[in-house]
Amino acid sequence: NQVAWKHLNAFISVAAADDVLRQAREADETSSSGRGGAPSSSPLHGRLIALKDNICTTDLPTTCGSAILARYTSPFDATVTTRLRAAGAIVAGKTNMDEFGMGSHSRYSHFGGVAQPASSHSSATSTTAPAHQLPPNPTDAALLSAGGSSGGSALAVSTLQAHAALGTDTGGSVRLPASYVGVLGFKPSYGRVSRWGVVAYANSLDTVGVLAPGARVARDVFAALDAWDPRDPTSLSARTRVRLSAMDATREPRVRRGLRIGVPREYNIAELSPAVRRAWARALERLSAAGHAVRPVSLPTTRLALSAYYVLAPAEASSNLAKYDGVRYGSRAAGPDSGSVARTAGGENADAVGDDGDGDILFARTRAAFFGPEVKRRLVLGAYTLSASAMDNYFVQAQRVRRLVAADFDAVFAVANPLTTAARPPVRSGGAPAADDDAKVDVLVCPTAPTPAPRLADVERLRPVDAYTNDVFTVPASLAGLPAASVPVEGEGEGEDSEGKIGMQVIGQFGDDGLVLDVAEVME
Ligand code: GLN
Repeated sequence: NQVAWKHLNAFISVAAADDVLRQAREADETSSSGRGGAPSSSPLHGRLIALKDNICTTDLPTTCGSAILARYTSPFDATVTTRLRAAGAIVAGKTNMDEFGMGSHSRYSHFGGVAQPASSHSSATSTTAPAHQLPPNPTDAALLSAGGSSGGSALAVSTLQAHAALGTDTGGSVRLPASYVGVLGFKPSYGRVSRWGVVAYANSLDTVGVLAPGARVARDVFAALDAWDPRDPTSLSARTRVRLSAMDATREPRVRRGLRIGVPREYNIAELSPAVRRAWARALERLSAAGHAVRPVSLPTTRLALSAYYVLAPAEASSNLAKYDGVRYGSRAAGPDSGSVARTAGGENADAVGDDGDGDILFARTRAAFFGPEVKRRLVLGAYTLSASAMDNYFVQAQRVRRLVAADFDAVFAVANPLTTAARPPVRSGGAPAADDDAKVDVLVCPTAPTPAPRLADVERLRPVDAYTNDVFTVPASLAGLPAASVPVEGEGEGEDSEGKIGMQVIGQFGDDGLVLDVAEVME
């Protein structure tokens, strides 16, 4: 199967056959040893799971799609990798991605971009049979964007090369590819899943997420990962998790009573494609036919969220990526390292490039040679917005917007945010609802992206800033740390005229991850 789909470039590395067998044997051994390892009843036992290539594994390299880590293999497994292995899963391979997670189409990869054939997505476009031996030609009208930055993970699932895959979602990188490719993408609440061993892009936003064929498999994978990790200081504590389970306990009564579904007015933007608008309306009609109450809500700060995100994420990135300087690890540019001692590439990880004679600062030469254009753009942007003269106008303002976005969500959800209401029980049990509760909702339903998957040929023509607008519906939940899923729903038309799958997003209150997956299951 992996051979047939090789030309789509979903994987950066794949586990060798004997490695897969070794992992399968280990999963069997732990399950039969009764050491509480991987019970063969675990739904992930013996399942192939693909991991985005910014999640550390000891048996395969972890490149982040970057030349600077092209030869890096981690000496440890990420906590999520360890937890999957303990549940009996087999790491099938590492998936392709935008360099360090920066991008929306998985085209900014040192290992070549990801593509999806239009035919796997929709039969609306006539396609020539893909030539499996050839690398994808981005001008081929039959190729679509797989979304990004976890495009490889989404494609690994849609092409059945993996049972499920892990991605990371900083501003939409799990949900956007899920929407373009037609699979389920789930971003849990910030802090539920450990980030230890996951290479940071913007650590206050980074979240490990799941790509799966549907909500049931996503729930299985999430259940294996949802635990406190002492090694991740942002992992939700055991005490907070107790509060979250109290909230989760009210989930079934809420569903039985009929959910209140909020439709954010501000998401009905002019740029919304007609196919997406129709799919949204149909999804809401179906929910209301199933007995749920659909009502409009307002999230007034939405239109500022995208700008705030593109200030905060690059700012954090400029700090997080400062360590790739060619000194301690990663690739290193050739030439003198201090201006006095002449030396060439050192260490086995070093990659030699010629000294262009333009200065002799090792880290500058290394970063110039090994970071791609989008990463450089973000690093310059981030360094600027954090600089003394710009800080107040950009970074500080963006932090303010971030708090307003979170407050918008808290104002529409019926359940209080368990992080900001520590003193009170998170959910009122029983009793008559307060008057203004009528205006409040359990979840929000809106599109994941303004359009279905665009053609690669069109994507390649976009200016970088235009590509940022794809994230307009995903960044608000990221800024607020809320759980959100992209659910593939059927577009209009059948056969030749089918619009294919379109991603609808379900957003819940912080900690309402279970409810988000329940609603996703109802909608798919
Ligand atoms: N497209 C967004 C960005 O480039 C989101 C990326 C992500 O979630 N990792 O920042």
